[in-house]
Amino acid sequence: MSLDDSGYDGLVLQKISGSKAKVGDIISVKKNKEEYVGVLMPRSQVGSDPFHIIIKLDTGYNIGIKLSQDSEIRKIKAGKKKRTTGTETEVENKGLPTASILSTGGTIASKVDYQTGAVNPALSAQDLYDTVPEIREYANVRAKVIMSVLSENIQPKDWTKIARIVASEIKAGTDGVVIAHGTDTLGFTSAALSFALQNLPVPVVLVGSQRSSDRPSSDAAMNLIGAINLATKANTAEVLLLMHAETGDSYLHAHRGTRARKLHTSRRDAFQSVNGYPLFRVTEQYVEEIHPSILRRNKKRKLILKPKFEEKVALVKTNPGVEASLIDYFVEAGYRGIMIEGTGLGHAPNRLHASIKKAIDAGLVVAMSSQCLFGRVNMNVYRCGVELLDIGVIPCEDMLPETALVKLMWVLANTANKETAKELLVTPLVGEIDMRSEESEYISHLGGE
Ligand code: ASP
Repeated sequence: MSLDDSGYDGLVLQKISGSKAKVGDIISVKKNKEEYVGVLMPRSQVGSDPFHIIIKLDTGYNIGIKLSQDSEIRKIKAGKKKRTTGTETEVENKGLPTASILSTGGTIASKVDYQTGAVNPALSAQDLYDTVPEIREYANVRAKVIMSVLSENIQPKDWTKIARIVASEIKAGTDGVVIAHGTDTLGFTSAALSFALQNLPVPVVLVGSQRSSDRPSSDAAMNLIGAINLATKANTAEVLLLMHAETGDSYLHAHRGTRARKLHTSRRDAFQSVNGYPLFRVTEQYVEEIHPSILRRNKKRKLILKPKFEEKVALVKTNPGVEASLIDYFVEAGYRGIMIEGTGLGHAPNRLHASIKKAIDAGLVVAMSSQCLFGRVNMNVYRCGVELLDIGVIPCEDMLPETALVKLMWVLANTANKETAKELLVTPLVGEIDMRSEESEYISHLGGE
């Protein structure tokens, strides 16, 4: 394992690099005249801090040693070679569909294997079969660890990478793709892939977990099995996001990739559909359609891959203290677009209007979504909205602010003509905009259908 994937940073990473040791090697750690010898362990991505190094002692216990500037680390012996974590396919069961599982990191993949010292690649095919043996009954699994990051660190260039790998799995003939991902920005990635992977032949299911698999209350195994079930069985070819539908283990909900929002910091049913409904109810046993898909499974359909995103697009949330200079900054910094997360029906304080006009005059695309989340932007009701429309701000209908942001990044990267880009931004493409969504699609439907 490279040190980049070891979970260490700061002083600890510096000291380990200096000693040329790798995870799995036997090392000595000297601190305040004490010497500790053991196997260098990786740090879990979840709950790690930058000061402690973890070693496994001969007794089998793992200890954390807090390093200071004068602590010394020395490599004593190289560790045994571990399994590789590239694509692996077990012996195929001819009667089963093939599922591709791509792991990007996050809690769902944060499992330290204390036997081998390996971290995270808990989603190599072999590790999956070892931890969740039931998977064999659902599909032949092609598993790849494509990155190992907590999702708060995911960047637009990672969406591009994920989209390209999904496309190559589809080209190789998979029956469905599952992407294991952290939950913090799962909704951004699901929106991004919805735009990047047009005309899909098979479903792409993003899945996360709120509790890691080494905790008794983990939702990881059920979510993962559900995702394989959904990806291989459902008659859909959309990008979906699958998580627990309620706090118990009764069933999961598959949300449309452009409509899902993490609405709770810790509950297992944190994700809900906003201005839309979940499309499938899923358990380990069944996949039930509860709202129709826009695109049905058809392996002959030809995928259109458009994986690029313009990074110079800002999301600006207005608030009573927001200053116009914030807008000016993005213009000066060479940004190409600003997605405003305005208040109510789509408003930004009057004191921002002159700067917004300057931004539009300078060639930026400026658009409006609402921090209310539910409902539709309507800028014709109040003077403020009408003024912003006159200036040229584009109302983003009933899109979630993050979906609208991602879509603006996508249209600007894929369309040379600004007028076409603006038009595309408000044209429904993959269920992200519903011209007829209703007031009844409000919080009352959460948790049910
Ligand atoms: N912060 C973590 C992440 O988004 C939480 C999770 O995995 O659910 O990667």
